[in-house]
Amino acid sequence: MRSYFIAGNWKMHKTVPESVALAKELVAGLRGCGEKLLVAPAFTALAAVAEVVKGTNILLGAQNMGPEEQGAHTGEVSVLMLKDLGVKVVILGHSERRHSYGEGDELINKKVLLALRHGLEPILCVGETLEEREGGRLEAIVGSQVERGLAGVSAEALKNVTIAYEPVWAIGTGKTATPEDADAVHAYIRKVLARLYGEAAAKAVCIQYGGSVKADNAVQLMAKPNIDGALVGGASLKADAFVPIARFRA
Ligand code: PEP
Repeated sequence: MRSYFIAGNWKMHKTVPESVALAKELVAGLRGCGEKLLVAPAFTALAAVAEVVKGTNILLGAQNMGPEEQGAHTGEVSVLMLKDLGVKVVILGHSERRHSYGEGDELINKKVLLALRHGLEPILCVGETLEEREGGRLEAIVGSQVERGLAGVSAEALKNVTIAYEPVWAIGTGKTATPEDADAVHAYIRKVLARLYGEAAAKAVCIQYGGSVKADNAVQLMAKPNIDGALVGGASLKADAFVPIARFRA
């Protein structure tokens, strides 16, 4: 049976005790859930949440990482430090990183390659702004974010990459792309991947949708053929909102 990848991005929320409490609720609420599950707490809570999710069906993720292995990079967190804590997945190129902190495709690509080199699975986030969509530039923007984000990634390494399609206008706004709209963009991303890596490799890539995913729209979104999971922001901050998303099949 197809398994979906449901990930929670906690962003800059929750102290260490709050993170541990949520992680414990999720471990209990998601026991036996057959989907691929991830929580991405703040850096400061990674070590404590790692202890809670160790040996469970929930993977530990980071929300970002530095583009270098180590060195004089004040304020950055390195791939080695993340691995040290048991992090398996790293979210890269989130629209908040792109738009609030000026991260571009070249920097994001550097991080993707570094993560893969160290055995971390990157979630490469892509997505257009409302202005870009309304200006008819959706495919050009998303296509180039995919292609430039994956520059230098081999077909073998692609197996460890997840793409998250997150229309910027749908993140944290309560506006969700319709399942049909989202599926069409996912299909386009697969077309780009097929051009770069061939049909079979493109078909195998997990493409998550992100943007105001809730329990009441998860079923319709996941029913679409090209939607393989969800990257969830706001609704991942409470167990009673996230658990029903991850258990959308129940
Ligand atoms: C996100 O930040 O990745 C996201 C999709 O947020 P939200 O679910 O709150 O729209």
